[in-house]
Amino acid sequence: MDHTRKLSQSELLRYSRHLVLPGWGEEIQGRLKRSRMLVVGAGGLGSPALLYLAAAGVGTIAVADYDAVDISNLQRQILYSAAQVGTAKVTVVAQRLSDLNDTVQIVPLAQKVSQENVSNIVSSYDLVIDGTDNIDTRYLLNDACVRWQKPFIYGAVFRFEGLTTVLACAGGPCFNCLYPDVPPPGTIPDPATTGVFGPVAGTIGTIQATEAIKLVIGQECSLVGKLLVYDALHMQFELLTLKPNAACPTCAAGQQQGRQS
Ligand SMILES: [Zn+2]
Repeated sequence: MDHTRKLSQSELLRYSRHLVLPGWGEEIQGRLKRSRMLVVGAGGLGSPALLYLAAAGVGTIAVADYDAVDISNLQRQILYSAAQVGTAKVTVVAQRLSDLNDTVQIVPLAQKVSQENVSNIVSSYDLVIDGTDNIDTRYLLNDACVRWQKPFIYGAVFRFEGLTTVLACAGGPCFNCLYPDVPPPGTIPDPATTGVFGPVAGTIGTIQATEAIKLVIGQECSLVGKLLVYDALHMQFELLTLKPNAACPTCAAGQQQGRQS
């Protein structure tokens, strides 16, 4: 008998506002409890995403980040407080999320995602939330997500704007479909010099968590094949249609892999 299918009395109380939602109930909450999610980057996007995933009752949450908390993070990275400046982010995250919900298993990964470890890391989770600001890491994660058929929930912020979509799902593109050419070094905006309006990161990270939860509980995923563009300055949301690129080598390799497995 699988005991993880049953919610305890305190879980029934904790998730009571979920359980009464139309179409939710114990079975759906149980799916969240059995789910395993990986968040790469515990920064402006990862902060709200991690908090909502833990609060919602995602059973296992891995967080990959090799940075320490910096005072310049506090303007938007709402997981952290001033007293934690200098402490490894994954250490703070593990404590904060355990304090929030001690039924959630937190897996801190204080390491850089690399060509060598990406496959191992990605393959044991149901999906990946992109909270990184590093384009090389994003290509690595995308390739592994396509290969292992894991949804890759992309998010990015630039000044007053945010972008998010769900990549590497059937019928939609992957990151390489959208950006087939790696941008030359020095052409990617650095948030330290271009700036980030803090609440935009909160909105985009929260939408990423929303899409992750919907995927796991089996709701139709509205951001597969769609890019949500948020302009906070003019308070406008725009939804653009995205199509897979038929010539994408990453998708072609993923389909080959899928046929073999
Ligand atoms: Zn592709």
